[in-house]
Amino acid sequence: MKKYRSSWLLSGALLAACGGKTPSAPLITQPAPAPDAPVIQPAEKEPPVTKPTEPKPPNPAQVAFATKCNAGLETAKGLLGTILTTTGPRTIANTLDVYNQLLTNLGNSSALAGLMSEVHPDEAIRDTARDCEQAVSQFATDLQLNRELFAAIKAVDVSKADAVTKRFVEQTLRDYRRSGVDRDDAQRARLKAIDDEMTRQGQQFSKNIAEDTRSIEVSSATELAGMPADFIAAHPPDANGKIHITTDYPDYNPFMTYAQNDALRKALYIQFRSRGDKQNEKILQTILELRAEKARILGYKNWADYITEDKMIRTGKAASDFITKIWKLAEPRAKHDYDELLKQLKTHDAKATAVGDWQKIWLEEEVKKAKYQVDGSEVRNYFVYQSVLAGLLEITSTIYGITYQVVDGKTADVWHPSVVAYDVLREGKKIGRIYLDMHPRDGKYKHAAQFTLRDGVAGAQLPEGALVCNFPDPQASSGPALMEHDDVVTMFHEFGHLMHHILGGNQHWVRHTGVATEWDFVEAPSQMFEEWAWQYPTLSRFAKHVTTGAVIPKELVAKMQRADKFGLGSAVAQQMFYASISLEFHQADPSKLQQLDTIKALQKKLTPYAYVDGTKFHASFGHLVGYSAMYYTYMWSKVIAKDLLSPFAKGGLMDTKVTAAYRDKILAAGGTKDAAVLVKDFLGRDYNFKAFEKYLSE
Ligand SMILES: [Zn+2]
Repeated sequence: MKKYRSSWLLSGALLAACGGKTPSAPLITQPAPAPDAPVIQPAEKEPPVTKPTEPKPPNPAQVAFATKCNAGLETAKGLLGTILTTTGPRTIANTLDVYNQLLTNLGNSSALAGLMSEVHPDEAIRDTARDCEQAVSQFATDLQLNRELFAAIKAVDVSKADAVTKRFVEQTLRDYRRSGVDRDDAQRARLKAIDDEMTRQGQQFSKNIAEDTRSIEVSSATELAGMPADFIAAHPPDANGKIHITTDYPDYNPFMTYAQNDALRKALYIQFRSRGDKQNEKILQTILELRAEKARILGYKNWADYITEDKMIRTGKAASDFITKIWKLAEPRAKHDYDELLKQLKTHDAKATAVGDWQKIWLEEEVKKAKYQVDGSEVRNYFVYQSVLAGLLEITSTIYGITYQVVDGKTADVWHPSVVAYDVLREGKKIGRIYLDMHPRDGKYKHAAQFTLRDGVAGAQLPEGALVCNFPDPQASSGPALMEHDDVVTMFHEFGHLMHHILGGNQHWVRHTGVATEWDFVEAPSQMFEEWAWQYPTLSRFAKHVTTGAVIPKELVAKMQRADKFGLGSAVAQQMFYASISLEFHQADPSKLQQLDTIKALQKKLTPYAYVDGTKFHASFGHLVGYSAMYYTYMWSKVIAKDLLSPFAKGGLMDTKVTAAYRDKILAAGGTKDAAVLVKDFLGRDYNFKAFEKYLSE
């Protein structure tokens, strides 16, 4: 999945992440956990940056990096002055084009800072990059409220301009209005105060979740029956003979999956789903009130309507209808999944009449083992890192008509010797550059994400992007570097973002470059591209056995697909439960909202699992900060991703006629049209739910 900078000012500098990073500024929203993850993960916390009490003077490398990183910001400041001091009639050339350069330069600083703060091997440089990032954010915030700049852009006559320029101006003015720049002084002051307070409260909400680690006490190792030996070894009894199991993921996930002791699993579940309950309901109440007030000042019925307005979905009502529709589609399968788990539970307790929420993961694992077992150690023998990467490059070369040329590390200015850079060429002409930073090392970003390094602007600069991942390193192990299939899927997913960035990076207006489309569309191309890592015809091009060289067996791929879909109905229903919380909390009048009652009612309506007394899930639902009303976006982009695969039904995923159309009509178009229009251009019809329905039913 991905998370990105939602600021329109920085929309060109999109960070496509599949992990999380706490926003360092109000403009930057958080990444989130994978949409399919059965358990919602909290947003990742940045380690606190400890500043020395006696500030150390920066070393020469830091000074050099700061100069390089701030260059775009300084240029942007100069260009702002140029726009504001221009006299005479406002034109595209003297105002819009200069503003475009301003955004491009600001984006360059933002992108370099954002990437280096996560990947640079030198901690001092990572700190300097964070400082640079903050300076950029500060400038961007001021820009968003700059009335003179707003007036200057508004004064440009674009009545005779082309459609894309008109779109650029419309979007820009809309975004300015959405930030409240045209409100009176008192209202603007209030909006600024609301934003500051929302940021503060949001950070506190996340902090309370991250810091509220709880635990249960287990009286002896015999009560850990079912747990893997390494887990038991890592949890020795304390001086009093007690074993402590915490609500942190490395404890929680395996415990909920394998522990045979039902009462202990239930106890840990209750602790887990109570995190944040001492303070976060009150904080959430404040956040909801602030959001509602902001929406009201800006003329919207509620926050859900405000935040969805510039997304594909457009309104809170449409989001609500979407959730209902998906839930109805998933319900029969969810019911079937539930019945299967109840049957399994009865093998332990013949009198069981219902499956508890704390039993779900454990039972799913049992059924999976019995019915759908795929031996992971067999599967990974077919995924040697170098062959997977070579296969990915071969496939994208073929389907998009591009070639890759290795660039030596000096020319490409790589930040670590393990980073490989390629120029991407189309018909012999360079169209961009990619950097692959694929293996773990100390101090590096811990998830998998696509980062922008440069936005593509026609005639000004070519797009550059980086994949930052943590796959097995062929240099680090004595044997071959074997990947889990999940990792292979992640690699294709991230590469889907990268291709969007590169192939869509030839726009006149930086605001329309590559992945700069509506927030709820951004994940569709990457989710769609995962399919190339699931189908036999594409897998067989590169998935070959590490010792025998044999192609992955067709039956094994079919087995992997079946296992992947087990529990799908239940998972989709659960996602719609989360999406409903996210939406309904932002549609309700905060003064009347009863948080816990709403949760109970939604759980009853949307999932077969009863509410468990003592829990307060919303108090640790971290997405309520970064995603607010928009949790629906995960499923929304998945529905569209499934539909985008429809034209491949006849000729398969390597049908180059279809891939060329997809490249030209969707990827290359970037944000020059509404995503719904791009999808229609490609499909020859409006998107619909049929493909998703089929996916759910087979
Ligand atoms: Zn993604």
